[in-house]
Amino acid sequence: MKRIGVLALQGAHIEHIAILRRLGAEAIAVRLPQELEGVDGLVIPGGESTTIGRLMQLYGFNVSLQRLIGDGLPVLGTCAGMILLAKQVIGLNGYSLAAIDIQVRRNAFGRQVDSFETDVQIPVLGDPLYRAIFIRAPSIEGVGRGVEVLASLPDGKPVAAREGNIVVAAFHPELTEDSRFHSYFLGVVD
Ligand code: GLN
Repeated sequence: MKRIGVLALQGAHIEHIAILRRLGAEAIAVRLPQELEGVDGLVIPGGESTTIGRLMQLYGFNVSLQRLIGDGLPVLGTCAGMILLAKQVIGLNGYSLAAIDIQVRRNAFGRQVDSFETDVQIPVLGDPLYRAIFIRAPSIEGVGRGVEVLASLPDGKPVAAREGNIVVAAFHPELTEDSRFHSYFLGVVD
């Protein structure tokens, strides 16, 4: 059984744990760095990236996590989690793990439409369209050469990406009934 930690400092961790358990994984809430021991993968959920980043530093996650990710620990970052994993964050002077070679912009979709849902094509999930839920979501403004874009909006803006052991999404896969995105991540964990 795969043991997946879900960073539970702030944000939507309960929903991730529920969906991972439904898929047969052992999902545990991670609140302290020592709870990372023995996990096969980690989810960094959506929430408020500045708050999660501050708490990560406060509890000493920064050093241990950067080492684990560098050693190949599979990590899924959604929304704020994506911001915390990005190498470049436009306009942020908060903390980032700088693990995936993408450039992101916080709250990129403007106030009037800061939350929306739309169907996107995600080829690695198969044919049926995927209902993606965006909540004050960040955008992906640029990707490095080693980064695979997993999904884009009709205007061409990438909204999900992968580089090696790191998978990120601007949307909230834990808020839909469709568990394909988490299944994909569990495949990366393998
Ligand atoms: N707007 C949040 C941030 O900048 C992210 C929103 C979310 O995770 N749903 O951190």
